[in-house]
Amino acid sequence: MTKRIVVIGAGMGGLASSMALAGKSDAELMVLEAASGSGGKIGYAEHEGVRFDTGPSILTLPGIARALFSSAGRDFDAELELVESTPNFRYYFADGTELDVFNRAEATAESIERVLGTQARQEFDGFMVYARRIWEAASPNFIMGPAPSFGSVARLGFGALKQLREIDSMRTMLQAIEARISDRRLRSLFLRYATYNGSDPRKAPATLSCIAWVELGMGCWGVAGGMRTLAATMERIAREAGAQFRFDTPVLGITQSARNGFRIRLADDEIEADAVIVNADAAHLVNDLLGATYDCGVEIASAASMSAWNAVIKARRRSAERRPGHALVFPEREYIEEFVDIFDHHRAPLQPTIYLCAQEKAHKSAGWPDHEALFVMANAAHVRGLDDERFDWQGFEQQVLQRLRALDLIEADDEVVWRRNPAGLAARFPGSRGSLYGAASNSAFDAFRRPPNRAPAMAGLYLAGGSAHPGGGVPLCIQSGRQAAAALLEDGWRKR
Ligand SMILES: Cc1cc2nc3c(=O)[nH]c(=O)nc-3n(C[C@H](O)[C@H](O)[C@H](O)COP(=O)(O)OP(=O)(O)OC[C@H]3O[C@@H](n4cnc5c(N)ncnc54)[C@H](O)[C@@H]3O)c2cc1C
Repeated sequence: MTKRIVVIGAGMGGLASSMALAGKSDAELMVLEAASGSGGKIGYAEHEGVRFDTGPSILTLPGIARALFSSAGRDFDAELELVESTPNFRYYFADGTELDVFNRAEATAESIERVLGTQARQEFDGFMVYARRIWEAASPNFIMGPAPSFGSVARLGFGALKQLREIDSMRTMLQAIEARISDRRLRSLFLRYATYNGSDPRKAPATLSCIAWVELGMGCWGVAGGMRTLAATMERIAREAGAQFRFDTPVLGITQSARNGFRIRLADDEIEADAVIVNADAAHLVNDLLGATYDCGVEIASAASMSAWNAVIKARRRSAERRPGHALVFPEREYIEEFVDIFDHHRAPLQPTIYLCAQEKAHKSAGWPDHEALFVMANAAHVRGLDDERFDWQGFEQQVLQRLRALDLIEADDEVVWRRNPAGLAARFPGSRGSLYGAASNSAFDAFRRPPNRAPAMAGLYLAGGSAHPGGGVPLCIQSGRQAAAALLEDGWRKR
């Protein structure tokens, strides 16, 4: 009898697992997705015939996607076009300073010298060296292989252990940045990288400073046609290698079957599976899909990463000079106060930092005849309960629009055509509490607590996605999906 592998969820992790497995195993491969298309948080919406992205807007570490594509016998750069915006980001500071940042650290350093002065440039250069060293020490042990454990780290050779001292995990990100950077504006720029995995820089280990190197040193890109093109391409490649996709098919439960496999409960059907990769949030797997009857050995983190309020504005078209691909508007008060609001008071910031992505420039995606789609994001606390629904999101939106108008980034009659608050995100992604990146990394030990890609106490069950190892963000979720697939193939599923 043909065996069957089921992937639950067609987000980045599920798509990467499907691409990595299709054609590599004798088993049938079936992807079950609750939504009507693939992509998960890489979502899109449509207004007056124009389609726009509603999720991620920058791709870092494209090497991870390239490696996945080549493992599936495909050339990433022949399938997709990466888009570089120039300048890449423009930062708007409260004192009126505008700083352009480029896709090469040297060009960014020159811009910093011009705008913030020589000392800021020297400190930036020094920080890049420091952040790069962390990345080079941490990524092989915490990202590019199986989930680390205290035992696996202890077993590393002397050289690797010596290199691990570089990761600066005993200080917080805030402490490390304050020790190295004196310019308040440059501090804000570096602190913001904590939000790239939804964490609090007052608690997150300084190790996360490596994200600054990942974006500013290694670069970040858009994807021609929008990030949704990446998801669509991954789905197509998996299908071409034999994966079957069933959309509008939420999985309601997983039970273990007598023949050492699983029964997957759907709304009006039940299907058998011999192995399962779960791309849904780990909390949804443990609390809803397995429930109290089954323990798969996965612990759910109590601290979710931050959430966000998002909108898309139909904005009169502007040149890249007046409105670059990516813009970031800092609030008037100290930036660190944003994390106090989000993590201590569990609310949306009183003065939000606003991120803006002009999708025509960043992703070469088509807009309306005279208008382009501007994706807007302001971080907020993840959903904790009913209070979130009573929050004045309308007032919050007005505050964001006013700030953008004051900086002449949008015009008075530019119109919001799509919006979503944390509760909307939580409802769309069960178990996520509206968090963007799975669990927060608010302690030095969180990398050891993240669920591994192979469920510890249930043979045949694997986890892929932002709430599993190695964590959230598009490239890490791709890596997660690849590692879940690799673990499954290692467990005897490889084609003979
Ligand atoms: C607004 C926003 C902006 C972001 N910006 C960036 C960015 O610029 N760069 C970046 O790298 N990252 C960014 N991220 C994070 C990034 O999008 C995510 O980390 C990543 O896409 C999550 O992938 P995942 O594998 O965890 O799957 P998810 O995207 O969480 O998808 C899981 C899938 O499983 C499905 N599913 C869940 N339960 C079931 C069930 N019971 N049955 C069937 N299907 C089910 C869901 O419908 C969903 O399709 C952003 C996220 C958001 C929301």
